[in-house]
Amino acid sequence: GGRLVDGERSTEDTPERALRPLSLDDFVGQKQSRENLKVFIEAAKAREEAMDHTLFFGPPGLGKTTLAQIVARELGVNFRATSGPVIAKAGDLAALLTNLQARDVLFIDEIHRLNPAVEEVLYPAMEDFQLDLIIGEGPAARSIRIDLPPFTLVAATTRSGLITTPLRERFGIPLRLQFYNPEELQSIVMRGASLLGMNLLPDGAAEIANRSRGTPRVAGRLLRRVRDFAAVAGVEEIGQKAADGALNRLDIDDRGLDAMDRKYLRCIAENYGGGPVGAETLAAALSEQRDVIEEVIEPYLLQQGLLQRTPRGRVLSEAAYRYLGLAAPNRTPA
Ligand code: ADP
Repeated sequence: GGRLVDGERSTEDTPERALRPLSLDDFVGQKQSRENLKVFIEAAKAREEAMDHTLFFGPPGLGKTTLAQIVARELGVNFRATSGPVIAKAGDLAALLTNLQARDVLFIDEIHRLNPAVEEVLYPAMEDFQLDLIIGEGPAARSIRIDLPPFTLVAATTRSGLITTPLRERFGIPLRLQFYNPEELQSIVMRGASLLGMNLLPDGAAEIANRSRGTPRVAGRLLRRVRDFAAVAGVEEIGQKAADGALNRLDIDDRGLDAMDRKYLRCIAENYGGGPVGAETLAAALSEQRDVIEEVIEPYLLQQGLLQRTPRGRVLSEAAYRYLGLAAPNRTPA
């Protein structure tokens, strides 16, 4: 954490709540997911049933939590939120589930980090709206069954590969979120600026959008920093030049890459001959957690075509060498 451009949530982002769109129509981008959700929401409402369980996949900061809240709001039900690592025991999950009202949305962030014992209890809860709990220990132990109100589990994960197959199969609606294109981000930034009462010109918004690595959370964060620089410099109308100046001072380059990204790319180029190199090795070389490397740094570099993942490890592309201003090694085709 601590990087301006990582998509992960930090306490600094509390003000981002003000920027959260509240309805599907206000939510920019993710056209396919949005259109599908609209249909499923309408159908569930018409049938007066809980909507099917929904799983969002995608890197941090793309709007998974926001969409979960919107789903509850549009269904007209309560929204309860928790996260995988917070649910330590089956009893914690039971407490959450038994407190739901019919058709409520329970949001579980980072579902891939759920304790396996809790996951076991979740299966029948999702499938049959039933809880099977073991009460007591040893010979006195007995199992009890509790009926639950029908509910919608909305879960989010940054790591689709880490979700077990039985869990994945219990979601009727799997949705994969994509990085946003510059036009979508520009409109998100313009909307944010107006909510923050900033006088941001379209070319200023485009500059922030281009440097937000396809991620609304990053865009919101950069927007607030640009606002600070502009306020201190006494700039009233924030155009491309003011935005560019502020972002340069934050050491975010014109592709949205920061010092950490450059360090990562340079490490593979200079220490590992451009790869292939494994995630574990890179994590050690960069003193970063493997999770951060795989969830925060790599997805955008992959999307930008600077990096490739191969079965033998990470490999830099020629574009990455051009980006670093280094000569690419002569690779003989495999
Ligand atoms: P995730 O759960 O995927 O990490 P969030 O839903 O918390 O991401 O979104 C991060 C921030 O980005 C939110 O506070 C919201 O303001 C903003 N955001 C996300 N998606 C959009 C969008 N499509 N339009 C406008 N703002 C968005």
